Amino acid sequence: MFENLSDKLDRAFKVLKGQGTITEINVAETMKEIRKALLDADVNYKTAKTFTDEVRQKALGENVLTSISPGQLLTKIMNDELTALMGGSTSEVNFPATPTIILIAGLNGAGKTTFSGKLANFLKTQKNKKPLLVAGDVYRPAAIDQLEVLGQQIGIPVYANRETTDPIAIAREGVALAKQNNNNVVIIDTAGRLAIDEAMMQEIEQVKAAVNPHEILFVVDAMTGQDAVNTAKVFNDRLDFTGAVLTKLDGDTRGGAALSIKSVVNKPIKFIGTGEKMEALDVFHPDRMASRILG
Ligand code: GDP
Repeated sequence: MFENLSDKLDRAFKVLKGQGTITEINVAETMKEIRKALLDADVNYKTAKTFTDEVRQKALGENVLTSISPGQLLTKIMNDELTALMGGSTSEVNFPATPTIILIAGLNGAGKTTFSGKLANFLKTQKNKKPLLVAGDVYRPAAIDQLEVLGQQIGIPVYANRETTDPIAIAREGVALAKQNNNNVVIIDTAGRLAIDEAMMQEIEQVKAAVNPHEILFVVDAMTGQDAVNTAKVFNDRLDFTGAVLTKLDGDTRGGAALSIKSVVNKPIKFIGTGEKMEALDVFHPDRMASRILG
């Protein structure tokens, strides 16, 4: 994860680490290298610029120039700023009601169905919840089968209705069933849509209006970098989602999406997917991720 970015940042720091005396010029050069590393990682341009300006100011303010170990001090500042950039503290799912309704949204192939299963499994095994999965991807019949297979695998009930192609009806029925069966969490998988597909975007807005979810999690493939961030913007404008889920981080060497999403849409990353298996899900911890990036 993020090997490429880590390597480049490490190289950027080398200038300062080896230096006996540090000048403002060294700091400025290092910042330029860091900005380049961030842009190479597909970090949003404005995000990268604001970030390096901020780090530079802090570095000069905290007397990096006269410090005995400027490299170390700068690493600490970078660590704090990267953590802040990714949201500061951990933001988890809230359970304000019974049942808590969680709507899953995102593009085709982002990993929604897989994440729905992973989330149900996580809530059952780690949070002692009793979830119901709802198969709302009516346009891809295989998605219903896929969710049913996952449900069986992790021992979680799945509500599907192959008699209708109305995702609003299915979502409503799913919530009603959860109440009847005492499921305290309902996770509604939805059809993938292209952000430009107006009819599909309206449809998910209608699902939202019909069931009034407590959480809307926007699932996005981290490997798509800036596209992930642009898609997040479109979905957030339409759905005002409560959190993002970055999938396929196991294959993401650059990290651009992880570093940009919070600052661009101002919504926290709540979970990260790190593989295809049901256990390959982690709560997102900005501080741990920052340390990992800095190596
Ligand atoms: P959906 O169309 O959004 O429902 O996407 P799917 O859940 O069907 O996932 C699309 C593909 O991505 C499948 O082959 C999944 O196994 C794979 N996938 C999902 N999440 C991850 C992840 O975190 N890491 C990896 N490597 N693959 C993933």
